[in-house]
Order: sequence, then C-alpha cells, then structure tokens
Amino acid sequence: MRCPYCGSLDTQVKDSRPTEDSSSIRRRRVCPDCAGRFTTFERVQLRELTVLKKSGRRVPFDRDKLMRSIEIALRKRSVDPERVERMVNGIVRQLESQGDAEISSDRIGELVMEGLRSLDDVAYVRFASVYKNFREARDFGAIVDELAGDEGPGEKPRREPVSGGA
Ligand SMILES: [Zn+2]
Repeated sequence: MRCPYCGSLDTQVKDSRPTEDSSSIRRRRVCPDCAGRFTTFERVQLRELTVLKKSGRRVPFDRDKLMRSIEIALRKRSVDPERVERMVNGIVRQLESQGDAEISSDRIGELVMEGLRSLDDVAYVRFASVYKNFREARDFGAIVDELAGDEGPGEKPRREPVSGGA
C-alpha cells in the first residue's frame, strides 16, 4: 500500500483487526520512510455500480471518492473514523442492494446527507451546502430549522442566534 504522505511503497501493517460490526478489516499502517501513519479498510464488494451524473455522463462508482467528499465535510470534526466507515459501508450496501446497477448522483447525495445528519450536524450542513449548491443564508437557515426539529438521540450543539439587519 502506497504511503499517502510520501508515496513510498514500503509501508508496514502494525495492527489488523475487524471493525466493530465485522464488515471490514481495519489495518493500521506505518511508513518507515516518513513515519506517516494511516489506516486502511478491507471490505466486501458485492457488485459493480455505475453512477449517472447530472451531465448524463456515466462513471464507475468510486467508493474512495465518496469517502473523500465525506472526509472534506468532516474536516476538523472529531468523529470516530470507524463510525464514518460504517456509514459509508451502509450507503454502499444500500446502493448495491437496490435493483439497478446504475445510480444517480442525486441518490448518492441524499444517502450521504442522511448519514451525515446522524453523524455530525456541522458536516451535514457543509455537505448539504455543497451538494445543494446553496448560496443564500436563508437556505442554511432552512437546514438549521430542519436540524432543530430532529428528534434524534444526543445533544444538539447550541447555535448562536443570527443577528438581523438593524
Ligand atoms: Zn511515507
């Protein structure tokens, strides 16, 4: 496995164990060249999927790409990588188990929003703002209202009231 930091091919597995739900094997790796540490997951792939983009173009479904966009939304949020992994597994399973091997990018976006919503509010808003291409503050307001109405478990972070124009 190539080191994501320095590109060295000589990385070593330090630890290997199944994730909590046993759907993947999690491997902690270390790079002897730059001492970089990273984690990889080995998992089952049930079927090949094709993504139908809004432009009409078809591209092979790329789990890593999906993971990267989720990681961007989760930047600097302290969410256990294993929970993220489980969420992505859940999304991929749902996509794989639907009738059609071709999925719209919209469908993927919806599933990611659903998943992030229960994982981290901030990441959810970030992802939604990109995915829905929101430009105006009132759109964020609508999302925050939606979140406030959520009766999921756990405490909701307090939000500063937005000061109106005065
Ligand atoms: Zn390295």
